[in-house]
Amino acid sequence: MGKRLTVIGTGYLGATHAAAMAELGFEVLGVDVDPKKIDSLSRGELPFHEPGLPELLLKHIDSGRLRFTTSIEEAGAFGDVHFIAVGTPQRAGEDAADMTYVDAAVSSLVNAITRDALIVGKSTVPVGTARRLKSLIDEFKARGIEIDLAWNPEFLREGFAVQDTLRPDRLVVGTDSPKAHAALREVYADAISRETPYIATDFETAELVKVAANAFLATKISFINAFAEVTETVGGDIRTLADAIGLDNRIGRRFLNAGVGFGGGCLPKDIRALQARVSELGLDRTMRFLSEIDEINLRRRDRVVYLAEELLGGLEGKRVAVLGTAFKPNSDDVRDSPALDVAARLFSGGAEVSVYDPKANANSAQRFPRLNYCSTLAEAVSGADVVLVLTEWQEFRDLHPQGIQSLVNNKQIVDGRNVLGKDEWESAGWTFRALGLRSSD
Ligand code: NAD
Repeated sequence: MGKRLTVIGTGYLGATHAAAMAELGFEVLGVDVDPKKIDSLSRGELPFHEPGLPELLLKHIDSGRLRFTTSIEEAGAFGDVHFIAVGTPQRAGEDAADMTYVDAAVSSLVNAITRDALIVGKSTVPVGTARRLKSLIDEFKARGIEIDLAWNPEFLREGFAVQDTLRPDRLVVGTDSPKAHAALREVYADAISRETPYIATDFETAELVKVAANAFLATKISFINAFAEVTETVGGDIRTLADAIGLDNRIGRRFLNAGVGFGGGCLPKDIRALQARVSELGLDRTMRFLSEIDEINLRRRDRVVYLAEELLGGLEGKRVAVLGTAFKPNSDDVRDSPALDVAARLFSGGAEVSVYDPKANANSAQRFPRLNYCSTLAEAVSGADVVLVLTEWQEFRDLHPQGIQSLVNNKQIVDGRNVLGKDEWESAGWTFRALGLRSSD
């Protein structure tokens, strides 16, 4: 295999992509503007938690197929195919995506490229970005170098990033260049040989597939959470409701777990950026339902704060144990984490908040240093007036009243992820609250 690949931006997406491409047999150079990240990756140390990735990283640093640099010039000279994996966060104080990182990465790369090459955007971007970048790239044709562009959105899930990259559900590639398709079919030959669908399309469709998928997933979560608001009022069992509708295979059970809602570095900012972009296009009403989806999602955090406050009869001076701060299990990512938001709000309300997350304590402490971070679950729940389960790590799914009741001050628990058995906790003498559960039930 002759292709040499670069990955520009080595965060959650880029570091995974770089290591996975090395695993597929390519020579890979990862590039980032953050020298600390590059130093750590070059030493084989992954600066975030992702199952299976540390092993892959070390394996290919040792094999010599994977290197890291801060030099875009080195990347421009090295690569045949350059993947863009830089961040597209929400712009401060706005809903739209901040495109400064993508624009900076592409223009510095284009200036550094010394021979014919293909640029492949993987970042999640507003529709219209690839076409805009293509005209910027075309200006370089005058140098006699041919640079193609394709958009190949990424669908990996944190916590399953390695398997999702090596065995994706589908490959979506938007480009008007047959050469770009040929190069990417070679890069993804392994997945294609396993019958992974390769969807060849245009820029706009490729960009939209990604945000449409995320908008759909967010809608599914807020849909069940809206019904949780109903069962909280009228009674009923939200888990049985989800199981029953999920058995209809047109609906499906996944992403129908009522709880404290979605967060992370993707879903919230992607649905906001989509609304902003569609409004920019003059379609003000088209994606308006997504602001409802967002609001339902944020109301779930209010509900957990309310339940804690109600159980405690006010927050001032009360001891709250928060189990889980990552936005989801198997990740240390706390970007827009519902769990961490709830913990911070309880602290602001006057509670003493002890926090334990198996992997995300350090990242959480960077954002909210004043919470009391504990290195074990037992330490966090010691003396607690209420225990909140806010991220469904297996360790918390496996929680039983007998394991912690001698440690707490008051036997009160809020299941913010619907992973515990109400009957078990209540028979052990606990006051049990959950999202989707009427308080008097
Ligand atoms: P991240 O913040 O973890 O990583 C982005 C990296 O880009 C950082 O290390 C940053 O230093 C680097 N960077 C910024 N400007 C640069 C430049 N000019 N040159 C080189 N490096 C630069 O973000 P992420 O979670 O990896 O997300 C990256 C993109 O992938 C986003 O568009 C995101 O929406 C999308 N995405 C993420 C996931 C995920 O699960 N994290 C999944 C699918 C898609």
